[in-house]
Amino acid sequence: MAEPMPLWSPRIAICGSASTGKTTLVAALACDLGVPCIDEEMRAFLRSSPTDLAQLPASELQETLLGLWHQRRRNEDALPAFVADNSAIDFAAYALYYGCLSASSRGVLLTEAAKYLRRYDAIFLLPWGVLPYEQDGVRAPNQDLQLRYQLLLEALLHRYADPETLHVVPETLSAPHERMQWVKAKLSHAFTLNAPTKKGRVYLVGAGPGDPDLLTLCAAELVQHADVIAHDLLISPELLARVPPHAELLPVGRRHGMGETDYRLHPAVLERAKAGKTVVRLKCGDPLLFGRGAEEAEDLRSAGIPFEIVPGITAALGAASYAGIPLTHRGKSSQLLLVSGHQRPPKRVRNAAPDSVQERTTVLYMAARRLAANLAEMQSQGYSSDTPAALVLSATTPRQHVICGTLATLGRLVPALPAEIPAILFVGSVIGLRSQLAWFEPEQEALSAILLRAQQCSTDAAVPFVQQATQPVESEGGR
Ligand code: SAH
Repeated sequence: MAEPMPLWSPRIAICGSASTGKTTLVAALACDLGVPCIDEEMRAFLRSSPTDLAQLPASELQETLLGLWHQRRRNEDALPAFVADNSAIDFAAYALYYGCLSASSRGVLLTEAAKYLRRYDAIFLLPWGVLPYEQDGVRAPNQDLQLRYQLLLEALLHRYADPETLHVVPETLSAPHERMQWVKAKLSHAFTLNAPTKKGRVYLVGAGPGDPDLLTLCAAELVQHADVIAHDLLISPELLARVPPHAELLPVGRRHGMGETDYRLHPAVLERAKAGKTVVRLKCGDPLLFGRGAEEAEDLRSAGIPFEIVPGITAALGAASYAGIPLTHRGKSSQLLLVSGHQRPPKRVRNAAPDSVQERTTVLYMAARRLAANLAEMQSQGYSSDTPAALVLSATTPRQHVICGTLATLGRLVPALPAEIPAILFVGSVIGLRSQLAWFEPEQEALSAILLRAQQCSTDAAVPFVQQATQPVESEGGR
């Protein structure tokens, strides 16, 4: 009976040129581990195609290779665990071998394939020339061409694969059972749970303001493949619903009022990364804009954990687009100021000349809790009291609601908001364009009604607005 391997969802690639024994090893290992195989796309293609690839015009060949690469990506994306015949970087090797890709496509293919390489738990490279060359009816009749392919592949793997995951099968091992034994020993060593040697990696990923469709392609891919999603409390339920079931969901965010903590990077994130997991630290908006991403990155660097930072659409940009507020507009605003409304006045940027203040759009993050103070401070800093101001709640989500007024009036129009509703404040004459540009009309929801009720009771913003929600009424934001 096959010995159980400690690794429960391995992603393994086995590569080498034709006649190195890949297919045999792939089938045996997949069977042993009880995971599916990903067959070599190129072989299947060559079998079904009457044309020798080398004879195709470069543009057709390029299209074919990119098509095969996309097929591979789909195959790998669909499976949490597999043993693959060939690695992702083989597609870049084909491109170099045939010399058919334009410089830019080759660059893209190399970069993307290199990214996929990092997802493997182990890559096994089989040696060339150990087994007798057998023509399979689909490859070049000349073994030297296979050597050329092998050398390209080896060079790419040594350059792009993590040395800890790349294993070169010794030339002395030619019998299938000897190779299996060696490969399994490497896997057990690499994945013994008590002593993980595979390095974890943390991606500090900007999740955008709420609408999951605003994730970057890179963020969406990382979310699909992470072992752990460590997320801020502000991450929208719509986005969390897209996290695949195999990933561990770890809420690690802090909100105002939760008190100080004695860490910057949540200990659970560090612990998962040290255990070899791929952690996506999903941060609302952009990780480096009022997001403390840099502090977490510093701690990761000190702990020796590799990390990457993936930008996201910051709340100001998302809310502006979805509320129909252009941040700059010819003749109205040529400056944009992003400020935290959380801090006390002395720390704030306040030395603006009155003229420039009128031509500027100012956006205050974390402004709702001190809304009245923020509005008053702006007026004392040179913004005229009739400057339009808008508070956008839960921007880009089905709960988006916009409350418009001026610096003088907005405070009375906004009820006390619970901390879990994110709100962002826009100030500037561009808000007037909203009447022409508003386009996002989430369905009327309870919140809209609640807010409108509160709005109508404008003289008493202190009344807990939940109590005021009775019937839905036409409202400005949630039409
Ligand atoms: N890094 C984030 C900001 C984090 S600070 C970014 O780049 O957007 C948290 C503040 O962001 C909230 O208090 C609120 O002002 C703003 N915010 C985040 N998401 C929001 C949303 N969907 N709607 C309105 N404001 C939002």
